Amino acid sequence: MSIGKVWLVGAGPGDIGLLTKKAIEVIEQADFIAYDALVGDEILCMLPEKVEKVSVGKRSGKHSVPQEETNQILLNEALKGKKVVRLKGGDPFVFGRGGEELELLSEHGVPFEVVPGITSAVAVPAYAGIPVTHRDYTSSFHVITGHPRKDGQDRTDYEALVRMNATLVFLMSIRAMGHVMEKLIQAGMDPDMPAAVLEQGTRYCQRRVVSTVSALEEDSRKAKIQTPAIIVVGKVCALSEEFSWYEKRELAGRQIVVTRARNKAGRLTKELRDAGAEVLEIPMIDTTPIRPEQVDLSELLAESEEREVWITFTSPTGVETFFGTTLAGKKTDLRRLLRNDVDLKFAVIGEATAKELERYGWMADLMPEVYNGKELGKALVQMAGKDAVIYLLRAKEGSEELIEELDAGNIPYRDIAIYETVCRENSPLADMIKEKIENEQIDRVTFTSASTVRGFVQTMKNMDFTKVPALCIGEQTAREAEKYHMQIEISDQATIAGMVKKLKELCKAQEER
Ligand code: SAH
Repeated sequence: MSIGKVWLVGAGPGDIGLLTKKAIEVIEQADFIAYDALVGDEILCMLPEKVEKVSVGKRSGKHSVPQEETNQILLNEALKGKKVVRLKGGDPFVFGRGGEELELLSEHGVPFEVVPGITSAVAVPAYAGIPVTHRDYTSSFHVITGHPRKDGQDRTDYEALVRMNATLVFLMSIRAMGHVMEKLIQAGMDPDMPAAVLEQGTRYCQRRVVSTVSALEEDSRKAKIQTPAIIVVGKVCALSEEFSWYEKRELAGRQIVVTRARNKAGRLTKELRDAGAEVLEIPMIDTTPIRPEQVDLSELLAESEEREVWITFTSPTGVETFFGTTLAGKKTDLRRLLRNDVDLKFAVIGEATAKELERYGWMADLMPEVYNGKELGKALVQMAGKDAVIYLLRAKEGSEELIEELDAGNIPYRDIAIYETVCRENSPLADMIKEKIENEQIDRVTFTSASTVRGFVQTMKNMDFTKVPALCIGEQTAREAEKYHMQIEISDQATIAGMVKKLKELCKAQEER
């Protein structure tokens, strides 16, 4: 068997947006991923689901894997022929022990590459409004560890640091903070020199304490600052207030769970992240097309006597599946499916579905004002002529409400399932999410359909669902969430944009309280 390869990859300080393009590419082709505790939660959620993953770092007090063992794991997996990704917080060579991990690989002739990452030493200050250099204050910055060496000795040359009149960034120094500050003052630094401690930088929960070298330790203790955090010393810290930006965005400080199918989550996630939220994508459903040969479209064929044909879609997935999979798979198109003299019309449930339809070159003729099955049914009853027939091209076991309206209006319809929604039953991330909800760290869990609620309940198993702060896209989804007595809010409009708007309103109301 041929030998594999190892990629030593920097994941950046936490925010998924700071993951490099190359890192994403490398992660997507991995067979095995070993990650450590500093890798952000957003990033953990995006790691490919079917790939073997191990955590080799300390997380909330749990034991970490010794360095030698990590080195050995990387070697063993590579020798099995795998593409191994070693994912590390920040940059792998900035106090990341990346060098040690390469030594063993190099000895055994295992090929490797290094993908640099954005280091916390620069990014964390930036997210706190602190430029590490500034023409008026300093012309260099230095990255130092305040962590004592194995023998307990501190060999840092504090006099040299003070003499340089530079910005000093200390990593792994929270426990040694008092000692480091004292040494700086002893070496001649002005006790009133601005200094800051920055906790969990670039993440939704980032905090900063800006103080002076003499008071930093006490102020930090009062604020209960914990690791991971960095210390910045220098005049640039005084700019933090003026240049702070991270906390100013509408959804800053919020952690939100998105439960849509992985390929569908994109827009909601993006809009929430753009507004400053940290978004954990945990898919609770999968949508899978029904195989084209199993979808019977013969009714749509020429035999149909009706002159007015309404093709109806209740989701963008329906449109995409019908044109992209069903028709494409059957190697046919609408001209061949329908009689020449029919009056073809399209009905859609809402904006997103209409847009998807446009992508395939068709304009919707009907869209209800309120985007749900019931209203779509009512609108169809109103618009359809007396010789009309409605074709519902949608998920298996779709909403009953739509059919009830059509039945009530005495309109003939055919319900044709073109895809299936399958609820998830487990997720490797379930425990993480459960813990966060129980500790009230999650602001909202978003549900975009009743099936996402069902998938969530099945996946989380026996947790206390009354603690789940749910945001539902519409009434039907809310009814499902009510069964589990979740804390429910409902979007005013059943769209992704509506959900984002509602979230912003909820957050604003909470802040004003
Ligand atoms: N290779 C990493 C540093 C690893 S050493 C990098 O380039 O960023 C671990 C130290 O990094 C922590 O003790 C802390 O000082 C700092 N650190 C890493 N991520 C951080 C974050 N998101 N916020 C604050 N400090 C962080």
